[in-house]
Amino acid sequence: MQRAFGYAARDHSGALSPFSFTRRPNGDRDITMKILYCGICHTDLDVIKNKHGISSYPIVPGHEIVGVVTQAGRKVNKFKVGDKAGVGCLIGSCRECDNCHAGLENYCPKPVYTYTIFESDGDTKHHGGYSDVLVVEEHFAVRIPDAISLAGCAPLLCAGITVYSPIRHFGLDRPGKRIGVVGLGGLGHLAVKFGKAFGAGVTVISSSERKRQEAIEELKADSFIASHDLNQMQAAIGTMDGIIDTVSVAHPLKPLLDLLRTDGKLIMLGAPDLEKPAQVPLFPLFGRKSLVGSMCGGIKETQEMMDFAAEHNITSNVEVIAMDYVNEAMDRLARGDVRYRFVIDIVNTLTNL
Ligand SMILES: [Zn+2]
Ligand SMILES: [Zn+2]
Repeated sequence: MQRAFGYAARDHSGALSPFSFTRRPNGDRDITMKILYCGICHTDLDVIKNKHGISSYPIVPGHEIVGVVTQAGRKVNKFKVGDKAGVGCLIGSCRECDNCHAGLENYCPKPVYTYTIFESDGDTKHHGGYSDVLVVEEHFAVRIPDAISLAGCAPLLCAGITVYSPIRHFGLDRPGKRIGVVGLGGLGHLAVKFGKAFGAGVTVISSSERKRQEAIEELKADSFIASHDLNQMQAAIGTMDGIIDTVSVAHPLKPLLDLLRTDGKLIMLGAPDLEKPAQVPLFPLFGRKSLVGSMCGGIKETQEMMDFAAEHNITSNVEVIAMDYVNEAMDRLARGDVRYRFVIDIVNTLTNL
């Protein structure tokens, strides 16, 4: 076994503290990575705080992992020692089902998440990227292009692919399409960047008028709607081909469905509250509109996203933090106090005690 060290949550308080554990030996199709950076995803916060009531402790979270390959098994083709590699939400799947054959490992009925989220995930416990070393089958790692910032590209491995995949799948990736982005956080700000890079028109829809300036001036969105302003909402009715909804707290869906054109899609990405199912108004759907969900992306598409991001100079806006700041960062994330993603500088600040 390989020795590993990271930060784990031990109980529902979610407090993260130093934790020693082991990784499996590097197999023929595995790479071992020295982790350099790991982004903090909202899912990490939800899971360590047991938001869904199904967390299994101890938990080393983290599924926006960038590292350098330190071992490559003899059947590894994609990587050699010294290459940069990235790992997102998934480290395994059945590899046999229709979805796996279609490169949609993220929709495999037997996914293996990068860190164990549910008690029912099986016997093997997996730990994530708030740690110094990771072993992963090479299939589930993507190549990191030289041109891209390592800290800035870490969040692309979850937040980035989560918005990129539906923009591509639902054909919003071209000039003439109008995309609405609800919520300007980790996912939302990347949806704006990818939408613009594809040449689509992008409108940010936010409950906070204060975000107008950053949406337009910093992120180059084409327009901004304050969702509580009925005049602004009214003026945009029937104008959008797709809406990327990143908000994870309950909110009314009818006003958003009203913004869609015929055949428009309201795409839900925020983690729902299991205890409070959303109310879905059906009448607006009769305009041949769809309400749909989407979750991260397959490995092939994640590689495509990473290459596209490098080519178009897209990275996440990040606040790089030291490992021992992680609990404060979680408190700030819970308050929405980050623009737009924390990334932990693992390689320089995680010291094995
Ligand atoms: Zn995530
Ligand atoms: Zn499968």
